[in-house]
Amino acid sequence: MITNEQLSELHALLTEMKIELIETIKSELEDEETPFNVSGDMADKAEAITYVSVNEELTSGQKNTLEKIDRAIKRIEDGIFGKCSVCSNFIELDRLTAIPYAETCKEHMQ
Ligand SMILES: [Zn+2]
Repeated sequence: MITNEQLSELHALLTEMKIELIETIKSELEDEETPFNVSGDMADKAEAITYVSVNEELTSGQKNTLEKIDRAIKRIEDGIFGKCSVCSNFIELDRLTAIPYAETCKEHMQ
């Protein structure tokens, strides 16, 4: 089981990872039109970042990771975070600590 405290830590970590990924993408993109110049706190930046997930210029790997992070954040908000998408058992905490957006337990990781 994951405690609420661990959940909010993972939520913060995922938000940070999302912003970090966006910053990486931002530095790779030349496009002036992308809404990256957002001031404000992390939540504001995370909001702005959702525009980026539809950006065709993202590599599939970046897109994939972003989508996984988004889904993980959504699962936390929906209260269904931490279950394996294959067997529905709880994902090991050390796995989640290493990869907070993991969607499968160790047995079903590929
Ligand atoms: Zn599993």
